[in-house]
This record gives sequence, C-alpha cells and structure tokens, in this order.
Amino acid sequence: MSNQKVTLEEIVSLAKRRGFIFPGSEIYGGLAGTWDYGPHGVTLKNNIKRLWWKRFVDDREDMYGVDAAILMNEKVWEASGHIAGFSDPLVEDLKTKKRYRADHLLEEAGINPAGMTLEEMTDAIKENSIMSPDKNELSEVRQFNMMFKTEVGALGGQYSYLRPETAQGIFVNFKNVVDSMQPKMPFGIAQIGKAFRNEITPREFVFRVREMEQMEVEYFVHPDEWEKNFNHWLNQLREWMEDIGLTKGRIHEVDIAEEDRAHYSTKTIDIEFDFPFGQRELYGLAYRTDYDLKKHAEHSGAKLQYRDDVKGEVFTPHVIEPSLGLDRTFLAILTSAFTKDTVGGEERAYLKLNKELAPVRVMVSPLLKNKPELQEKAREVFSTLKKEFGNVMYDDNGNIGKRYRRQDEIGTPYCVTIDFDSLEGNDVTVRNRDTAEQERVKIEDLISKLS
Ligand code: ATP
Repeated sequence: MSNQKVTLEEIVSLAKRRGFIFPGSEIYGGLAGTWDYGPHGVTLKNNIKRLWWKRFVDDREDMYGVDAAILMNEKVWEASGHIAGFSDPLVEDLKTKKRYRADHLLEEAGINPAGMTLEEMTDAIKENSIMSPDKNELSEVRQFNMMFKTEVGALGGQYSYLRPETAQGIFVNFKNVVDSMQPKMPFGIAQIGKAFRNEITPREFVFRVREMEQMEVEYFVHPDEWEKNFNHWLNQLREWMEDIGLTKGRIHEVDIAEEDRAHYSTKTIDIEFDFPFGQRELYGLAYRTDYDLKKHAEHSGAKLQYRDDVKGEVFTPHVIEPSLGLDRTFLAILTSAFTKDTVGGEERAYLKLNKELAPVRVMVSPLLKNKPELQEKAREVFSTLKKEFGNVMYDDNGNIGKRYRRQDEIGTPYCVTIDFDSLEGNDVTVRNRDTAEQERVKIEDLISKLS
C-alpha cells in the first residue's frame, strides 16, 4: 500500500538476502559508493532497461539509439564545461579529515544554499556554528571536481575521464546520426550506459553512488517548439513511472527556480521521490536550449546544424533532455513494491513488482523433495514454462512454506506446486503472490493462466 512505511535498512537487507544487490568488493572490506548487482538484481535491472528501450526507442519512429564509448577525447569535457565547472562544494572535518558536501550540511541545518558563492557558504557555516557530523570544526568551502581522471596510452601525457554523464556521447554523435539516418525534426537520440562521479559523500545505498547507470534522451526540436515538446516529455515520464509501478503519492514534480538551474537551462522540472530517507531527486527534465550543440560546434569546428529541406531553413536545434538514473529507478521500484501484510496469522514481506519487471515470473516446485515421481512431473512443467517465459525458477530447497516466503521477497508473481494429486489429475496448485491464495489449474491451461 502506498502509505506503508518502509525503512532503508529493510530494503538493504532484503536486497542482500535475496541476491539483488551486494556491497562492491565486499570480501575486501568494500569500496565506498560501489554496489554489485546480484543474480536477481541484474535481471530486474535488465528488465527496467528493456522496458525503457522498448518504450522510448523501439516503439517510436523518431528515436535513434547509440552506445558511445565511456572514454572520450578530453576536449569533449572542455567544451561541455565539465572540466571547469563539474564540481561540488566541499568542506573537510579538520580533525578526522573526512569530507562532506557543504551544501548538504547547510540544508541539514535549515539553511538554503541555493545561489551562494563558496565564500558565502564558508561564512554561513561559521556564523551558524555548523560542525561536522563528528562534531568537529570544518574547513573553508572549496570546489572539488567530480570527474575520475585517467591516463590513456603507454607514453603518458594524454588524459581522459570516465564520463560523468551519458549525454555528451549523444551530442558528439549528433552529426553522425543526422548524416547516416536522415531523421525528420523533431527527433531524439537515446543512450543507456555507465557514468562515473567521484561523489564526496556517497550514501543512501544505490541513491548516490560513484559508478551508476543512466538512461538519457536528447530530443532535438525547432526552437519555436520547445515548450510543446517539453510537455510531451513530462507526460512521457509520468506514464513511464506509472508503468513501472512507482507509488503515485511518492512522486513530486518540482519546477526548479532560476538560481538553482544549470546556467544553460531555461526550464527544468525535477521529478522527486519519497525515498525511505526523504524526498530526493529521481529524474531531471531540462530544456537545454542550443547550448550543447553550439559549444561543441565552437570547440570542434564541426557544423552541428540541421537543414530542413521543406522549409529551406538551417538552424541549431534546441534540446529537451529527460535524464533518468537507473540505480535510483531501481531503488524507487523497491521502495514502491515493498509490502508487509499478515498471511495466516504470520507477518510477511513481499515485493509487489509488476510482471514485466519481476526477476522470476514463475517458480515451480515439487511438494516434496525426496519423491522422484513428483520431481519428474515438476521438471516437466518447469521445462514447458521455461520455454514459454524464460525467467522461470525451479526450487526444491526447504519446505514449501519457506519457498513461498523466499519467492514473495523476490517478487515472484506465481508459484506452481506439483503434488500427488497432480500425477493423476494433471493439475497443479498456483499460488498468487499478492493474495497468497491458491487455486487448482489444469497443466494444459497453465500458460494462458500465467500470461
Ligand atoms: P544530485 O543533485 O542528486 O547529485 P544531479 O542533479 O547532479 O543529482 P544529474 O546530473 O541531473 O543529477 O543526473 C541525472 C540523473 O542521474 C539524476 O536525476 C539521477 O537519477 C542520476 N544520478 C546522478 N548522480 C547520481 C549518483 N551519484 N548516483 C546515482 N544516480 C545518480
């Protein structure tokens, strides 16, 4: 239910216990800001990506996909402004040397840091006697660039960065896509891929990580038509969130004020979500004007324009950018799906995932493990369903009650159990995750029942 409270601890512990997400490099003590997706986690993540790609690329006529390299020419990041400006304000605990986001500490103290210079932040920290979380004094505020720098080639001297966003891989391919695909205006280029940010304080599970995945669209429009297309994408985001089962009451659309927007954007709406630790940014939708293409044209010398042969017009397209974090989507889905109720006098937790997302669609098991005739029949049903649905799991560990609980926590919509009656009657028990109710279904009707 939407108003159910779920804690981050409950989600983190379920994610680990059930093979969704593990701490990165765990046996070596971990690496802050990195998480590894386990067997069910990678399936759920792939399902999210598949739905996104289908909805925003395959099902549309006006979208083109790319998969650009993570390492890009250093000049890309000069042009985009990331070398000069992709930084966060940082303060250091003078005793422990731990670093924190100055704007976050100010916010936590009830002070709005929007629009403040570094000096003003330093002053505000002093005036309000703000201390580090360990109750020590803090350093002055300075800028910290969040890009991971790396050396390219054996000779040294040439640098690159792990991309901090997928967007630039799209902009630098604008001309290639126009020349090879001859798209009609308006059109979009989409990309899903890894992005890296050396966050000062990674925290809150996969909400703020140093290695993440993004799903981004840059949608190119005629300058006169930006508003119409902005609204189109806002609606697209709303439909997407409904489709993946995000709890409506947890979603907030926040119109970002001018002083908080990136300098090139004239309108931004952040989609914020009530995570277990508070209301935070889930997605961003920005009108980026012609800033990016103009900057890259300027720095590269390439002609990044569009020729409309019908109107005889040549112009630099403007851009609408819906930017989605995959890891935050994953966490928002778990937060929305996590449900507690009481079944047969016993409390249980389950993930109310929609069928398209659930990592396991059906679990098949024999009622008893040590009966060959049940095993054989169950294997038969399993093979048939696996051929049909793919993500079907066979489980004969522990007793049947434990298996159901386990599948509830994985979010498996249906469990199919083969018992002694199945051998004669050719029917099985189908248990529904959400109601925990069971019904008898003929084996020949199973596929249509579970579809
Ligand atoms: P924040 O203010 O929370 O740092 P941002 O405004 O810097 O986020 P954008 O640069 O707009 O984020 O990135 C687009 C999307 O990428 C975000 O809406 C979010 O979903 C995701 N994202 C950004 N940074 C991270 C991160 N460190 N960990 C996980 N997801 C992230």
